[in-house]
Amino acid sequence: MATEEPSKYAPSGAGLSVDLSPSLRAFEAARNGKRGKKEFAQLNRWFEIALNNMGRGLSMFDADQRLIVCNKRYRDIFSLPESLTQPGTPFADIVRYHVKHESGRDGPEEMAGQKKWIAAHVAEMALGKSFSSTRHLQDGRTILVSNQPLPDGGWVDLLEDITEKCEAEHKISWLARHDTLTELANRFHFREQLNETLAALGPDDGFALHAIDLDRFKEVNDTLGHPVGDALLKSVARRLREVLRGPDIVARVGGDEFSIIQRGAKTAEQAAHLANRVIRTITQPHYILGHSVNVGASIGISLAPEHGSDAEELIKQADIALYEAKASGRGVYRVYCGGTAEEGGRRRSLELDLRGAVDRGELELYYQPIYDARTQEIAGFEALMRWHHPVLGMIGPSDFIPIAEATGLIVEMGAWALKEACREAARWSRDVKVTVNLSPLQFERGDLHLVVAEALERSGLPARRLELEITEGLLLRDDFCTNETLHKLHNLGISIALDDFGTAYASLSYLRSFPFDKIKIDRTFVREVNHPEREDCVAIINAVTGLAHQLEMKTVAEGVETADQVATALKAGCDEVQGFYFSEPVPARDVEDLLTQHPQGMAAAR
Ligand code: C2E
Ligand code: MG
Ligand code: MG
Repeated sequence: MATEEPSKYAPSGAGLSVDLSPSLRAFEAARNGKRGKKEFAQLNRWFEIALNNMGRGLSMFDADQRLIVCNKRYRDIFSLPESLTQPGTPFADIVRYHVKHESGRDGPEEMAGQKKWIAAHVAEMALGKSFSSTRHLQDGRTILVSNQPLPDGGWVDLLEDITEKCEAEHKISWLARHDTLTELANRFHFREQLNETLAALGPDDGFALHAIDLDRFKEVNDTLGHPVGDALLKSVARRLREVLRGPDIVARVGGDEFSIIQRGAKTAEQAAHLANRVIRTITQPHYILGHSVNVGASIGISLAPEHGSDAEELIKQADIALYEAKASGRGVYRVYCGGTAEEGGRRRSLELDLRGAVDRGELELYYQPIYDARTQEIAGFEALMRWHHPVLGMIGPSDFIPIAEATGLIVEMGAWALKEACREAARWSRDVKVTVNLSPLQFERGDLHLVVAEALERSGLPARRLELEITEGLLLRDDFCTNETLHKLHNLGISIALDDFGTAYASLSYLRSFPFDKIKIDRTFVREVNHPEREDCVAIINAVTGLAHQLEMKTVAEGVETADQVATALKAGCDEVQGFYFSEPVPARDVEDLLTQHPQGMAAAR
C-alpha cells in the first residue's frame, strides 16, 4: 500500500514556484471564445507540448474535484489507464484506482477511507495554502506530491520522483554510521546508540558493554594477506550477529575491535554467558579463501548502571577489563572490577606508543653478566630489554612487557631482541653465551625455530652460544605445541633455561618432560636465604640444585645482591650466579669492560 507522509523535501526548480495563472488565464480566455479558433488551437498545442515535456507529473482539478488536465508523466507515475486521464474524470475515481493498484484492495472499507481522505484533502485546499507530502509506492519509488490550491477552488498537483534523491541521502547517512567492510555500526554510531541506551535506562534496567579484541588477527593479516584479513573480519561480524538477540547492538569500533551492547543484562553472570558464547563462536575455525583460519577473542565487560552511567566511563572500564583479559593469557573475558580510569588510559597510551617502537629504534638491550661459580668467569650475558620512550624516558620491561604481551606486540619485539642479541654477541671478544627471554606468545605461531635459526644465520653466532629462557607459564599452555618447538630449538644446538623457577605452578614433572639445560632459581628464594624465619628458602635451593644435577641440568641463582646470598648459592652447589652483587644490566658498549675484568667478591663470598 502506498504510504503518505508530510514531506521534508521542499519542491524545487520548476515546481509550485511557477505561477501558472497567466497561461491558465490565456487558456481559459481562448476556450471561452474571446480569441480566434486558430489561436486557441495554437495555445492548446503549446500547452500540451509544455505539459508533456515536463520532468514532473502535473494534474489540475476544478472546484468540483474533476480533472481539467494532466500530463503524461502524471499518468506514468500513477500508472493510470487512458480512461482516467480524460478531462472531467472525478478525482475520487483516480484515487480509487490508485488505492486498488497499490494495495490490491477495493472493498467498502477502502472506499470509506478514500472518502474521508478526499474530504480532508479538499478541506486543506480550501485553506488556500500549498503543501506537500511524500508517497512511498509499492514498487519502491518515492514520490513527492505538491499541491497548490487554485483561486477558483480547484488545485494543481505536481509529482516528482525523488527515489534516487532519497536513496542517495539514505546511503550517505548509512555510510556515515556504518563500517562498509562488515556492515556493522561504526564507532560513531555505536557511541550514539550507547548514549541512547543510557538515556532510556529505567530504574530497574541495565545492560552490559562488551569490548572485544581479536587475538592473533595481526598475524593472520601479516601472514595470509589483507584479503584474508578482511574476509576474516566479515566472518567474525557475521558470527557476532548470529549470537546476539534482537535488541542487542554490535559494532566494529576499530581494526580488530568490536563492541556489543547487551540490553537487559544486569548481572556479571548474564554478561559472562554471552561473552562465553562470543569467544566460542569466534574461536571456531573460519574457512576463508581456501584457508582454515584460527583467531581468538578477549573480552572486557562493564555493567551499567553498576559501573557508571556515563558512556565514556563505561567504555574505559570495559577497556581496562579487556586489558586484564589479554594479560591473563587471552581467549578469556573479564568483568571490570575496580582500578582507575587513569590506569586504563595510561596503559592505552603506552600501548599506542609501543606500536612502532621497534621500527623507530626505541628499543635497546642491556646485558647482565652471569658468572660461572667454579671458574669465577663470565659464562654469559642475559639480554634484558629497555624502551626509550620519547617522552617518559627509559622504561623497564616490567612496565611494558605485559602491555606488549596483552597486545601481541611482543612477537615482533621478541624477534627483534633475538636478532639484536645474536648480532651483538657475535662481536664479543670471548666465546660466552647470550641469553634471550622468550614470551609464551612467541610460541603461538609455531615458527619460532625459524625465527631463531634466521637470527643465528644472519649474525653468524654459533647455536651453542645462544640460550633461551622460558617461564613456567608457557608449560601450562598445551595449545602452542610447546614441547615440539622446544625440541626443535634444542636440536638446533641451543640451550634452554627455565626462568623464575618456583614462582608459578612449579611442577617437578615439567623438568622431566621438557628438554631443559638449566634452571634459574627465582630471586624471591635467593633474597630470603638469610632471613631467620625462611630457612625453607635455603632448603628449596638445595633441593632444586640436587634434583637438577640428578637430571643433568645446571642451576643459576638469580638476583644475588649480597655476599651472604652468593655464599649460600655456592654452598648449595649452584653452577652459576647472577645479580646486582656482581653487576647490574649494562648497555652493549660496556660488555667488553666486564669481559676483561675479573669479578670482585666471588672469592670473598666463598
Ligand atoms: P628475568 O628474565 O627474570 O630477568 C631478571 C630481572 O631481574 C631483570 O629485570 C634484572 O635486572 C633483575 N635483576 C637482576 N639481578 C638483580 C638483583 O640482584 N636484584 C634485583 N632486585 N633485581 C635483579 P628487568 O631487566 O627489569 O626484567 C624484568 C623481566 O622482564 C625479566 O625477568 C623478563 O621476564 C622480562 N624481560 C626482560 N627483557 C625481556 C625480553 O627481551 N623479552 C621478554 N619476553 N621478556 C623480557
Ligand atoms: Mg630471564
Ligand atoms: Mg628470572
